[in-house]
Amino acid sequence: RTESIPELLDRLCAVVPDYPVPGVSFKDLTPVFADAQGLRRVVDAIVEPFVGTFDVVAGLEARGFVLAAAAAYATGTGMLTIRKKGKLPRPVHSEDYALEYGTATLELHRDDVPPGTRVLILDDVLATGGTVGSAVRLVERVGCPVAGIGVVLELEGLNGRRHLTDHLVHALQKV
Ligand code: AMP
Repeated sequence: RTESIPELLDRLCAVVPDYPVPGVSFKDLTPVFADAQGLRRVVDAIVEPFVGTFDVVAGLEARGFVLAAAAAYATGTGMLTIRKKGKLPRPVHSEDYALEYGTATLELHRDDVPPGTRVLILDDVLATGGTVGSAVRLVERVGCPVAGIGVVLELEGLNGRRHLTDHLVHALQKV
């Protein structure tokens, strides 16, 4: 029998208590990415509901880059890097957001893709939804429709979906 995606994630995802601050249970997907089957199955499953509905895959720095680059390559599309403040060299849009721990700003080059390009947004973990919410605003500010949002894990108790009610959110596992 083929292992299910939740079984695979239960086996490979490392859970680190009280990281990076007390009270946070950090879901570390690096062992999933390090595993040949883990990477392939997670990437295939995360794009599966959206195939044919997007033209480019946006990854959120840094773990979203791993998923987005692999998903773009697998689906024959391009990849957008949505980065932390101060990393992109040309004119950007910026969006601030509140994190489960701290605050931050995401940026996207204004002209990496033409307006109207359909964007699939990928990240590793949906927690409060602040990060993905700011990515949605950035994509919309460059004139592109959001085709959907894919995450590996959704921390259901934090109700991140409340920021994302206008979009299809696909989570491989809810924890
Ligand atoms: P949020 O903006 O609260 O949805 O947080 C999502 C971002 O923070 C994602 O990019 C995750 O990588 C990271 N993150 C937040 N909480 C966790 C957690 N408990 N375990 C792993 N990553 C987390």
